[in-house]
Amino acid sequence: MFSTLSAYAGDPILTLQLAYRDDPRPEKINLSIGLYYDNEGNIPRLESVQRAQKVVNASTAPCTYLPMSGSPAYCKAVQGIVFGEHSEAVGSGRVATIQTVGGSGALKVGSDLLRKFFPNSSARISSPTWDNHRAIFEGAGFSVETYPYFDPVTQRLDFAAMSAYFRTLAAETIVLLHPCCHNPTGADLSHAQWDEIVQIVAERKLLPFLDMAYQGLGEGFDQDAYLVRALVRAGQSFLVANSFSKIFSLYGERCGGLSMVCADADEASRALGQMQQAVRRNYSSPPAYGGHVVETVLLDPQLRPMWEAEVNAMRERIQAMRTQLHRGLVQHHPAYDWDFLMAQSGMFSYAPALAPHMHELIERFGVYIIESGRICVAGLNTSNVDRVAQAFAAVLK
Ligand code: PMP
Repeated sequence: MFSTLSAYAGDPILTLQLAYRDDPRPEKINLSIGLYYDNEGNIPRLESVQRAQKVVNASTAPCTYLPMSGSPAYCKAVQGIVFGEHSEAVGSGRVATIQTVGGSGALKVGSDLLRKFFPNSSARISSPTWDNHRAIFEGAGFSVETYPYFDPVTQRLDFAAMSAYFRTLAAETIVLLHPCCHNPTGADLSHAQWDEIVQIVAERKLLPFLDMAYQGLGEGFDQDAYLVRALVRAGQSFLVANSFSKIFSLYGERCGGLSMVCADADEASRALGQMQQAVRRNYSSPPAYGGHVVETVLLDPQLRPMWEAEVNAMRERIQAMRTQLHRGLVQHHPAYDWDFLMAQSGMFSYAPALAPHMHELIERFGVYIIESGRICVAGLNTSNVDRVAQAFAAVLK
């Protein structure tokens, strides 16, 4: 019956995790997967989250299904963090939000919904981007092409090429945008550059789909959501997927959200209905436990500031590691221009120049990066950062 099934090549990043796990060298360093590690090399259990878990665990309420759109309190909390606490769009009821199975679930539900109502549109994703963007949009039935984003020679954002490309797009083209902490490059647009993109989106009537998986890990919660707020101010209609996987260190609980910003409350109520239908057809309703933990943190007046401080500390640690890596690289290989690293932000850095040296980095130095040259800066710590700098410098000399 199943003899025609072809083999799945696996996900290259996840395959690399197995190689790392089986590497017997104690000095091995994992900079391949997009996980946040603390300075001791552990994936943290946040204090605010642990306290919320005690509250949720103490509940004797039956574990019944959540509604298709998830917990209303959770959705309200998502709106607060994504759009800001005093958002005009949220206040006027023109934002429809659902709880989703991580950021991935939000992208899937959103792309299915768009495919139904914009069957003639196609999607554009940045070159490069998170691999699953193409898979999810193609899976929904869209044809997907890339837009210029990153110049591998300068190892920097190529805004001129990106904006020129956007000016050529047809109305209702779906443009997938990373509001902050671009994955994989870490190269983000400035606020002024986002303003220019918003203007092009308005002029050409494009359909933005924002994927915000790292809010708070770039410059701060509100700064990282600049594009969200700018599109709202410009009166644009758009979708935004958000993920709590990283910023709650709750990867396995699958907590995310999908919001649609509409023209008015009536349109938003229809958008909500269509999102519910897309959920029903995919997984019926989101998981309850992680969502209750997240909403407990976000809505509790003591836990919320505690959590924000914990995320701020994560962000500052990543920034400190980036600075230390840069300093070490300049020291070990001063002839090379390493400044691109400091122009990038968030969990990742991207150095295509390292890509051809991936195997050498793994074999000679036990430093695991992925094939494209992406480095997870959040895997660096004060004990390994100098060894990483030495390894990168050695392979590029
Ligand atoms: N979008 C981007 C850009 C990501 O990097 C990730 C996680 N790697 C996701 C979405 C998916 O998030 P989640 O794990 O919450 O599904």
